[in-house]
Amino acid sequence: MKFADVIVDISAEQLDRKFQYRIPTMLEQDIRPGVQVEAPFGKGNRTVAGYVIRVTDKPDYELEKIKYIQGISQKKQSLEGRLIELAAWIRESYGCTMLQALKTVLPVRQKTGRRTSRMIVLKLSKEEAAGILEEERRRSHTARVRLLERLIANGSEDYAVCLKELNLSASVVRALEKRGILFVEEESGDLPLLRGKEREIFFPELTEEQGRAADEIREEWRGENPRPVLLHGITGSGKTMVYMSLIAMMLEQGRQVILLVPEIALTYQNVQRFCEYFGKDVAIIHSRLSQGERAEQFGRAARGEARIMIGPRSALFAPFPSLGLIIVDEEQESSYHSEMTPRYHARETAVERGRLEGARVLFGSATPSMEARYRCETGEYREVRMSRRFGSQGLARVRITDMREELRRGNRSILGSDLRQGLTDCLARGEQAMLFLNRRGYAGFVSCRTCGYVVKCPHCDVSMTIHKHGRLVCHYCGYETAAVHNCPSCGSPYIGGFRAGTQQVEEMLSREFPKARVLRMDMDTTRHKNDHEKLLRAFGEGQADILVGTQMIVKGHDFPRVTLVGALAADLSLYTGDYRAAERTFQLLTQAVGRAGRADRPGMAVIQTYHPEHYAIQAAARQDDDIFYEEELGYRRLMGYPPVDNLLAIHASSADEIRLNTAVEYLKRYLFRAAGREKVQIIGPADEAVSKVKDMYRKVIYIKHKAYRTLISLKDKTERYVEINSGFRGIYIQYDFNA
Ligand code: ADP
Ligand code: ZN
Ligand code: ZN
Repeated sequence: MKFADVIVDISAEQLDRKFQYRIPTMLEQDIRPGVQVEAPFGKGNRTVAGYVIRVTDKPDYELEKIKYIQGISQKKQSLEGRLIELAAWIRESYGCTMLQALKTVLPVRQKTGRRTSRMIVLKLSKEEAAGILEEERRRSHTARVRLLERLIANGSEDYAVCLKELNLSASVVRALEKRGILFVEEESGDLPLLRGKEREIFFPELTEEQGRAADEIREEWRGENPRPVLLHGITGSGKTMVYMSLIAMMLEQGRQVILLVPEIALTYQNVQRFCEYFGKDVAIIHSRLSQGERAEQFGRAARGEARIMIGPRSALFAPFPSLGLIIVDEEQESSYHSEMTPRYHARETAVERGRLEGARVLFGSATPSMEARYRCETGEYREVRMSRRFGSQGLARVRITDMREELRRGNRSILGSDLRQGLTDCLARGEQAMLFLNRRGYAGFVSCRTCGYVVKCPHCDVSMTIHKHGRLVCHYCGYETAAVHNCPSCGSPYIGGFRAGTQQVEEMLSREFPKARVLRMDMDTTRHKNDHEKLLRAFGEGQADILVGTQMIVKGHDFPRVTLVGALAADLSLYTGDYRAAERTFQLLTQAVGRAGRADRPGMAVIQTYHPEHYAIQAAARQDDDIFYEEELGYRRLMGYPPVDNLLAIHASSADEIRLNTAVEYLKRYLFRAAGREKVQIIGPADEAVSKVKDMYRKVIYIKHKAYRTLISLKDKTERYVEINSGFRGIYIQYDFNA
């Protein structure tokens, strides 16, 4: 006997009101989450339509009280049905309640607080418009006539008012907009950049290499089993151009496109280019929009007024009726992995949405994630490469400065001698420099400034982190050692935590280069809405000579006058205490090096490190990601880390430390039992890297296994165990796969 949970009204407030029905045996095969069904409802048993969100074989109520589903409403699944199916997949794959998954995926239909108003504006002069009016009258296009008369009288008119009073459909407005007679103006408060240009813009011709890449991608997609494609092209090779040509192709076929970009890219240049080429077809969401503004953009997608949705991770759920393509730019970005339950990854979720919609999926990166490259190797994705920069400019010259050597020569400054010389020359030539310090400036690892030795966990091969009273702790397995005062390798007393902040760098620069104008960009200087944009623009316009900042400065901005890039302390990201440290370091350094000398001036990049021989640093300096990939894959394989094996983290937190400790011990024992004969490796419990947040204590258990499926089923069992076990009351549990 099977039962289905059904929701009747898909609006945000109603999502948690589900009703259970029995599934007639005849329909068992066809009913799964996302299917629209008809069912008797309420006292009078009137028939209502609803969506199945869950199928189970255990009823929540007494059997006699459960009514039967009457039938399936329509053969073809609706958009909402597909989104619900996606939600069910997210629930299953990442661990959360169905309600959480639905709230993630379905468009929020809330009363909007601040409504964005739109105006229809006449673009032609009144005389010109009067000519068009006559023409439309002769052709008996009465709807167009009504609209034109109103616009000629008033010049412009509120969009909604217009449609309502004149009884028009959006297509009438669009038709006239296409002919350049009017335009629709968005009055959305804070998106000054994002207006479509009025003038005609010609799409640049693709270079030979770009054209070949686009052809290869189209060829893959024409085939029997179109795979997701990874467009792996060096910085400046013109990936954006390839995206644009594929987007144009999709629009021609009458389909819509989702383009995911990292949050930071939404603030500037990149998006501007899309708006220039695709104008009003573009809708944009970003994290600073209110719920209502976001819903408004999603509404434009649903109504067919926008055909390209650009945004961060959540743009993936844009309700397009006929989605044709999902592009994930800079697919390696960690922001594609949600930090809230459900902790979905946009890369995998894009593939699943693509599958449900029959849409193609494209990933782009200059420094792809280990996951994406590994999947290309196994044949799950198709890889397409571009290796030439647009224009004549080659890659920057890269120098590695060995900071141990600097110390030996008596230089204790944050600036090594190469970078000091480079800055002096760069400023003398009147060019610009960027200095970046990854993270906010403090990392918990312990290293020797004399020999570079870093204290690592003997079991996990990640760096240990300083804790209370100087003790060192591994955040995977919980292994601890006493504080160290002398380097275990060379005996030097210069061993300790690594500290340097962007503010200190700024102060140092103003001492050493008093004439240079310095801008600082970090969390502190980008608190307000448009701070990012203002700073980047000011620097782009040459209002400063040196830009100092955290990694946010190295991502995706084109500054033609920057000829020097310095990575002040590459080691800060190399020893963050997690298995992705080397990967992130390689990506950051490669992106940073790619910032130097993009236009007609040769560039130089300097990487300062205590570990010049580390493969992540060597490979970044040579801009060789194949070398990096091989080395890193060897390490992942040896240690059983993703993407070779799979890793499930179970995060537990509670205000009650003692109960938390007991709970995670029970959890560990349960996991051993639940795993049975499967050879899973259970690691921990350990304190989280940040072990207490807002008075909540935090612990984590890791589970490693070859097969993702096995981890999913362990997660399912654990969810049930936690639910029925009163010992877990007040303990908040989250699941995270391959984070
Ligand atoms: P990527 O995204 O791969 O880093 P971009 O698409 O940003 O590269 O291209 C780098 C620069 O080269 C941009 O300024 C872009 O305008 C220019 N460019 C690339 N391809 C072309 C082309 N086919 N025609 C004109 N300009 C191009
Ligand atoms: Zn040492
Ligand atoms: Zn460990």
